[in-house]
Amino acid sequence: MKIRPKCLTCGSFFPSIEILKDSPVKLERSCSSGHKVVFHISESIKEESLWEFCPVCENPDSYLSKDVPKKVFLGSLIIFLGISLYLLSVEWVLGIGLLFALAAMDLVLYRTLPDLLVCYGCGSEARKFVRTEDQRPYDPHVGERYRQQKLLTKKQITST
Ligand SMILES: [Zn+2]
Ligand SMILES: [Zn+2]
Repeated sequence: MKIRPKCLTCGSFFPSIEILKDSPVKLERSCSSGHKVVFHISESIKEESLWEFCPVCENPDSYLSKDVPKKVFLGSLIIFLGISLYLLSVEWVLGIGLLFALAAMDLVLYRTLPDLLVCYGCGSEARKFVRTEDQRPYDPHVGERYRQQKLLTKKQITST
């Protein structure tokens, strides 16, 4: 499994770390801002590439995503939609053709792009992991619960 941990303090990504069978149980790294973070690599991650809990924040919940640079994806989508809307107004057949092409492209991309597992707690990412039945796409309810938790812990830190 390859993990791309996120710093709990500043939210910046660490360089990806390839986890192998003989990787140590604890890894210590510093982020670009100098925060020291210790990652706990579980046996299931090492042995089976199975993500049980997050090596960074130790939360058990994660969601499936697609390994696409979101900005690039959204940017090109908006440009293509703009072009098809323009085409629809001048030559509607071409516009509709382009919309269909877009939908087809989306479907192909969705099927071929590799999966990404993202931790709800800290946003750390995993690649090349083993798929299981209970891995699901992003759930806003779970996301909201973690967001509230984060706010609470922040408040506790500032009030003590
Ligand atoms: Zn940091
Ligand atoms: Zn995490």
